[in-house]
Amino acid sequence: MKHNIDEKWQLSHMRLRTNRAEMQPAEMDAHYICDSCGEEIVVPVDVTEGLHQDYVEDCPVCCNPMVLHVDIAEDGQPLIKSKHE
Ligand SMILES: [Zn+2]
Repeated sequence: MKHNIDEKWQLSHMRLRTNRAEMQPAEMDAHYICDSCGEEIVVPVDVTEGLHQDYVEDCPVCCNPMVLHVDIAEDGQPLIKSKHE
């Protein structure tokens, strides 16, 4: 009996999560300021890749590699902290 209730809760919980994921695009734009040239760079972030992401991307303006630390906020907005490599 208890098991059934747990299962129902899990199912509705899963459905909620799925609906939420469908409403959000997989990629969202985030901004960071390049340390080398001071330009504001807009990059698409794949929010389905995880809440915390670290990767290196070359600045499209000055071509210097930047270490980007991405945090996805609770409202789904990605925030980037950048660091010159
Ligand atoms: Zn730059």
